[in-house]
Amino acid sequence: MGNTDKPITIKTPAEIDIMLRANSIVAGVLSLLKEKVKPGLTTLEMDTWAETYCRDHGAEPAFKGYHGFPASLCISINEQVVHGIPSTKVKVRDGDIVSVDFGTKYKGFYGDSALTIPVGQVSKENKLLLRVTQEALEKGIEQVEIGKRISDVSAAVQNHVEKFGFSVVRQFVGHGIGTNLHEGPEVPNYVQNRKAQFRIIEGMVIAIEPMVNTGTHKVKVLKDGWTVVTADKKPSAHFEHSVAATGKGPLVLSRRINET
Ligand code: MG
Ligand code: MG
Repeated sequence: MGNTDKPITIKTPAEIDIMLRANSIVAGVLSLLKEKVKPGLTTLEMDTWAETYCRDHGAEPAFKGYHGFPASLCISINEQVVHGIPSTKVKVRDGDIVSVDFGTKYKGFYGDSALTIPVGQVSKENKLLLRVTQEALEKGIEQVEIGKRISDVSAAVQNHVEKFGFSVVRQFVGHGIGTNLHEGPEVPNYVQNRKAQFRIIEGMVIAIEPMVNTGTHKVKVLKDGWTVVTADKKPSAHFEHSVAATGKGPLVLSRRINET
């Protein structure tokens, strides 16, 4: 969704406080979905819950209309990686893994976070996929230390994922976040040119978002112009947090209550 050709911006502690609020509303939406998603539900119902919760808490849904995206919540099921469009025609089924990605705009600043929800009885491999993707995100977060490089985040994510024989998507990446939903720097989930990557500095806020496939890392976009699917139709998972670099280490702005 969009790209990160905008410059890197540094946030003051007061701005980070606003971003914490923006992201706590995202966290509230994702917690609600995690608790309530069950077989038979349409993905449009989920979208309505998300938008209602967001507006009730004084924020705007950031994705609605973003580059023309037609809904508030991205819902990507099984082989869908990201940017799936909610619909009255799509129902969640027992055994699905459902990735939900939500963004808010609050007092001029953005929040962005995602998770993949297992519905009912999911396969052993999908359980492992979800666990490894979430762990990879946490390994990436640990690297958000002043003086390290963005590539240290990328390497931590990629190494963890590949240890289990899974692959990281290359075509879509994490990003800086602030008064733009997507700004610099790009935060890839794989290592490109390690030394060429930006240093992490105090006040930088980045969205780290591993997209992890059980098969090939290759993806394609469906005819709707949005939904990204794995090239081999094998399942994919997505976890994301917005994280501020502070003098006291990484501060996860979108942390959910009882997350792990
Ligand atoms: Mg997101
Ligand atoms: Mg994002």
